[in-house]
Formats: sequence, structure tokens, C-alpha cells
Amino acid sequence: MPQMLRALRQRLVPPGAVCARTLGTPVPSAATTLVDGRAINFFFTRKCNYACKFCFHTAKSSHVLSEADCKRVLRLFREAGAVKLNIAGGEPLLPQYHGLVGELLRYSKQELAYESTSIISNGSRLTSQWFEAHSRHLDIMGVSVDSLGHVRRAAALCREHGVLFKLNTVVTALNVHEDLSPLVNETGAMRWKIFQVLPMGGENTGAAATRGHDVAPLLVTAAQFAEYVARARAGVSDPSIIEEEDNATMQARPRRLHSMTE
Ligand code: SF4
Repeated sequence: MPQMLRALRQRLVPPGAVCARTLGTPVPSAATTLVDGRAINFFFTRKCNYACKFCFHTAKSSHVLSEADCKRVLRLFREAGAVKLNIAGGEPLLPQYHGLVGELLRYSKQELAYESTSIISNGSRLTSQWFEAHSRHLDIMGVSVDSLGHVRRAAALCREHGVLFKLNTVVTALNVHEDLSPLVNETGAMRWKIFQVLPMGGENTGAAATRGHDVAPLLVTAAQFAEYVARARAGVSDPSIIEEEDNATMQARPRRLHSMTE
């Protein structure tokens, strides 16, 4: 079955995106979906309301997959054996996508019978109306947190609507000395993924950097990253919720099909 999924991935490569902040996973810029065994990451757009200096999958394309094409992709992967769906971007919960994402979650759960659905978001445009309308088809909401922001509100919405909550953090020179563990404890996150900021030529570093930002001043060493993770492990109530990925791990992953919904 994984072979079928790999074949599908090669066929289904419309312009897409991955949120560097939240997934920490380099993928070919035209790839839409990554697969590991029975889980898929689905990227229907690269558009985002943020312009993070460390973003390594920037909005090179304004393409947004149509609802019909989104459903076709999700159906083909389901038929090939995928059971876990994670929707990412870009930012998948920009207001103009609220209806689309809600419908994709409903379609995936009700008609395709995906076992689990999740979203990775920067958390900036979540609304209680969206949760009221669509959270019954959502199992996990992942929100990026590199410092304080929309996190408390997102966690509260998840609690209120019975959606599991997880956090992702990209460690940069700007936050490497911070300790977010009290916030993580407060939100009751079921998982905290911590990534070392990753330079990628043509995306966030060098002359071809898409937004003209060079991530170089934000880089941290492996030792600094390890220190951050150690502090985080010492601070959280349950260290087993932490999963870290340094640059070496992430750079080893581009060709590896994997799950971000685990
Ligand atoms: S929030 Fe938007 S700009 Fe920031 S890393 Fe994610 S996709 Fe890139």
C-alpha cells in the first residue's frame, strides 16, 4: 500500500506549500502532499498572512487548489490506504478558506471515513464561529508558537470544542533564550514539537530568498538548540509531549515520506 501512496504523490503535484514554522520539513516547492505509510499532509495553497523571516516555503505561487481538485486528491489518497489527514499551508485558516477547509474536513470524515483529521495553523485567524461550524470533523488543531501570541485563545477554543491541541515552535536567535514551558503547561498541549530554524537556499536565504529576507541572523547552533530543548524538557509537566527536530534531522527528511499527524 505505501507503494501506491508514493505513486500517487508523484502524480499529484500541483503548486502547494508547507508551513516552515509549523512542519519544519523541507519538501519540493511544487509538492502538495507528503505521505508516510497511512498519513498525508495536504497543502492546497502557499498563501499566508504572515511573512516569517525564517519561512522556508514562501509564497512563490498564489495558486489555490479548487475544492473539486482538493476532494479528488483526498479521495485518491484514501483509496490508496491513507487514514490520517493533516491540512497545512501557507495558512489554511485564512478567512477566505474557512468554508473550504470546513467542507474538506466534513468530506474527509463523513464521506471518506478518514480516521483522524488535523490542521496546522499560525492561529491568527481562528474564530469561535469556525469552531462551532466545523470542529466536529476535526480531531487535532496544531498551532505555532515561537513566542506568546494567539496561543491561549486557540487553546481555549480547542478545549471548548473538544479538539486536541498541540504546539509547534521554531527556535531562532530571537527566542533561543526563552522558556515557553509554563505556557505549554497552561494550555494542556498534548504535544510540543520544537524545530531548529532551517536555512534553505532559494527560499529564506541567499540572493534568491523569496521575500528578500535572509534568515542568517536568526540561525542558532545545534548546541544552542539542544540547550533550549533541555530547558523545555525540564519545565514541562510531561516531558514525553516534546518532540524535537534539529537541522540534521530535518535535512535528512526531504526524500523520506513521513507523517506529521503522528
Ligand atoms: S506562518 Fe506563514 S510565513 Fe510563517 S512560516 Fe508558516 S507559512 Fe511561512
